Amino acid sequence: MSASCLSHLECSLTGEVAPADELHGLSPAGRPWLPRYDLVRAAATLTRETLAGRRTDLWRYAEVLPVRDPAHIIALGEGWTPLVAARALGERYGCPSLLIKDEAQNPTGSFKARGLGVAISRARELGVTSVAIPTAGNAGSAAAAYAAAAGLTCHVFMPADCPASFEQEARAFGARVQRVDGLIDECGRIVREGVARYGWFDLSTLKEPYRLEGKKTMGYELAEQLGWRLPDVVIYPTGGGTGLVGMWKAFEEMEALGLIDPGQRPRIVSVQASGCCPIVRAFEAGDEHAPRFEDAATVADGLRVPVAVADFLMLRAIRASGGTALAVTDDAMLEYSRVMANRAGIFPAPEGGATLAAFAQLRDSGWIGDDETVVVFNTGTPLKYLHAWN
Ligand SMILES: *Cc1c(COP(=O)(O)O)cnc(C)c1O
Repeated sequence: MSASCLSHLECSLTGEVAPADELHGLSPAGRPWLPRYDLVRAAATLTRETLAGRRTDLWRYAEVLPVRDPAHIIALGEGWTPLVAARALGERYGCPSLLIKDEAQNPTGSFKARGLGVAISRARELGVTSVAIPTAGNAGSAAAAYAAAAGLTCHVFMPADCPASFEQEARAFGARVQRVDGLIDECGRIVREGVARYGWFDLSTLKEPYRLEGKKTMGYELAEQLGWRLPDVVIYPTGGGTGLVGMWKAFEEMEALGLIDPGQRPRIVSVQASGCCPIVRAFEAGDEHAPRFEDAATVADGLRVPVAVADFLMLRAIRASGGTALAVTDDAMLEYSRVMANRAGIFPAPEGGATLAAFAQLRDSGWIGDDETVVVFNTGTPLKYLHAWN
């Protein structure tokens, strides 16, 4: 019997269900599908004890991942990244229990490897031969790497002004890269045309069900690496929102699996760039959806997402957790990237610097207490955007 306990898909808006073992894009309501598992069956083998001896990548959580036949797993070392205690850095802000989840150590240097590793493995299992992805930067290189390893054709569409490093990387993996006059949503529109015309499989954020499943493993890892406790606060740089929505889903599943006690979920802080902060605006306005953010501009390419199909899922998770959302300037991101590098030995992508900038703000305002355990995410390597620090 397959380790995966995947049972069906459920529409995140209407609750409508669909069979899992066929290809799906968005639900009929135009919203993301959420994969559901037989968690009773999963709980029999996915325990704290069995996990202790498993492989050190995200596939250790096989019961709650969608790939049925392990032969379809494309593994390049994704997941099980270090959770680094950054005590000296935390002490600067009077909060010593600060940890950095260093996602730069994933294949292709960002946590996009988690989502795309799982999505491409599952797509291949379901018979896909060519994939397409709109990207603000890192998603394109991660998709290209896994497609290369899986033997799939990969089409990448990126904004005309995206740094050259991202394009070179995707091309090195053999992807067909096209520059687009516009932002990631315009790239997404062109992908949809290609899907209709050439039958590509669309890997856009949350427009297929399984990138979310790869990203949710960050939530499982946080708990496992902290000895099956969760931190008080998680600070996460938010673009399309897969990581945030995925971790919230992981907390819910882990409670159902009996891996963690109920009622200890962290407060979730969504950080965006002041030049592109649709979720922060909607959070502050008390709205359930976030309209497109016009003229989006920021050095943090991963945060240059003016409109997100999962806006309502992010806003629900932030609110249900008792969390908050805030924007930081590009200058602050770059400055705090240096601080993290100098004090913790981790030079983050600007998106990672943004989480430390948010941490400093929330310490100043007293929103984070002295004795709280806080995890900030460094989501990527800075080496693809070194021009930003010039
Ligand atoms: C994509 C990306 C983000 C945003 O992640 P989501 O989970 O899509 O919100 C943040 N940082 C980096 C470096 C990224 O590549």
